[in-house]
Amino acid sequence: MDLGLKDKPVVVTGGSSGIGLATARLLLEEGAQVAICARGAERLDKVAADFADTFGVDRVFAQAVDVLQEEQINGFAKAVEDRFGGAVALINNAGQGRVSTFADTTDEAWRQELELKYFSQIRPIRAFQEMLAASGSGAIVATNSLLALQPEPHMVCTSSARAGIQNLLKSLARELAPDIRVNSILVGLIDSNQWQRRFEARDDKNQTREAWYADLAKNKNIPMGRLGKPEEAARLLAFLASPAASFITGAQVEISGGISRFI
Ligand code: NDP
Repeated sequence: MDLGLKDKPVVVTGGSSGIGLATARLLLEEGAQVAICARGAERLDKVAADFADTFGVDRVFAQAVDVLQEEQINGFAKAVEDRFGGAVALINNAGQGRVSTFADTTDEAWRQELELKYFSQIRPIRAFQEMLAASGSGAIVATNSLLALQPEPHMVCTSSARAGIQNLLKSLARELAPDIRVNSILVGLIDSNQWQRRFEARDDKNQTREAWYADLAKNKNIPMGRLGKPEEAARLLAFLASPAASFITGAQVEISGGISRFI
């Protein structure tokens, strides 16, 4: 299927690793112009150089940005406009989960988590809204988590914040229609840097990566028997961001290998 993104500028936050990186690469393969951001400049610059080599320097833009910092995200939006003349889609993907139970979560941790989850959506949306609306086929897609609908006690504040974000996105889908579509993906477990970090912190350092991931899939009862690959989430994000999904807004699509237990 042609996604209709050839020569269209698309923004991916958290584009230097995992799901965001795979999404940026797929969009470039589809012929889009791609702007990525992340906090860590070194990893981001390496990714941008690799993309520029493969897809051409004219189609790639990268800037070190913390999406929670208003000035930085606004500066990034301005730079994207200068470079590509606007943006048709914003993929709000930057972030990470927090593992903690209610007993372990301090007020400060709650504040940080709520700030990360809410403002990693709010600030980029504000910064790019005008450009997206002006594009004629604007789209926002959020990488959210299945925890929004199926909370886990060991990730209590992430689950709760994720649910609030779904609510916000649903409101935005109405408020921003018909100029901008707003959708989200609900991720189960996707193999990314987040899981790599948890693997490296495993108790039994003799356990191989393969065995650790197999145990994880088994313990989490993933019907497909494995974690997802970043490329699998990328295909869904790219589709929802594209004109191929032109009548889809206010939707949440699960990508979890069948892990949910609700209808
Ligand atoms: P990775 O750690 O591989 O990638 C996260 C990306 O986000 C990196 O590029 C990171 O770069 C960037 N990032 C993090 N915080 C910020 C920030 N404040 N400002 C700008 N960039 C930031 O993880 P994933 O690919 O797994 O994560 C992508 C999204 O998917 C996240 O929102 C995550 O919570 C969500 N998710 C993932 C799941 C999974 O199983 N993988 C499950 C549920 C949700 P840097 O650190 O340099 O800023």
